This record gives sequence, C-alpha cells and structure tokens, in this order.
Amino acid sequence: MNLPKLAAIVAILGTLAAFGSLSYVYSQEKSQRIACVHNQEAMREAMLHYQTQHAGNPPTRMWALWPYFTDPPENFGACPYDHDRLYTFDRETSMPVCPNPEHRIQ
Ligand SMILES: [Zn+2]
Repeated sequence: MNLPKLAAIVAILGTLAAFGSLSYVYSQEKSQRIACVHNQEAMREAMLHYQTQHAGNPPTRMWALWPYFTDPPENFGACPYDHDRLYTFDRETSMPVCPNPEHRIQ
C-alpha cells in the first residue's frame, strides 16, 4: 500500500471516529436533559399539590415538597447530572427550575 492511500484511509477513519464521538456526546447531553426535565416536572407536580393545600402559596424552601413524593429522587432538589446545581424557584412562575439553562422546560 502506498503512502497516499494509507493517508486517505487514516483521514477517513479519523473523520468517522470524530462523527461517532460527536454523536455520543450529543446523545449523552440529550439523555441528561430528558432526565432533568422529567425531574423538574415531578417537582412541579409536587408544587401544585403543595399550593392546593396552602392557599396557592409556594413554599419558601424546596424541602417542603419532599412529602409530596411517594418515591423521591436520590438527589432531591438537584439536577440529576450535576448534583451541585440545586433547583431554584422561578421568580415568575414559582416553579422549581434547573440552573442549567439547557435543562429548562420551554
Ligand atoms: Zn438539570
């Protein structure tokens, strides 16, 4: 095999590997977002239950939502993929949101 053919094969394999790793990273980020959005939706459901029992008022602390879960997530009140990022209450809707802007529910 001569050198130009070998260089072409190496370039093609390198390109394929790059696309493969890019799609892996993309699918990882997408699955993390889906898990976090699902977590936020469960927190919002708990918030609605809390508000119906407290004259429509939101809690001051996230932990007040804990009793409204039958099976609370392992890292309650935090992004499932970045446990240092604690959910906060959205100022406009009072609903729990992830501080990661890519995990926000539209
Ligand atoms: Zn998140």
